[in-house]
Amino acid sequence: MSGVGRAVFCDRCGAPTAEGDHARCARERDLEPPRFCPECARRMVVQVDPFGWTARCSRHGTRSSAAAER
Ligand SMILES: [Zn+2]
Ligand SMILES: [Zn+2]
Repeated sequence: MSGVGRAVFCDRCGAPTAEGDHARCARERDLEPPRFCPECARRMVVQVDPFGWTARCSRHGTRSSAAAER
């Protein structure tokens, strides 16, 4: 089974979300941008600007803090 657009990996530590405890990752993610693509766990290119952040995966494109809100 491989869902499309599912967050399979923790975008903070890059480990599978089904494994381990990512509560601390989630807390850190409130304060800091993601580092890994949640779909493939590739390291993303992260840029921080005054309005938030953008993170680009070479496979899955760009996501931003604006899009992540709610
Ligand atoms: Zn994590
Ligand atoms: Zn990706």
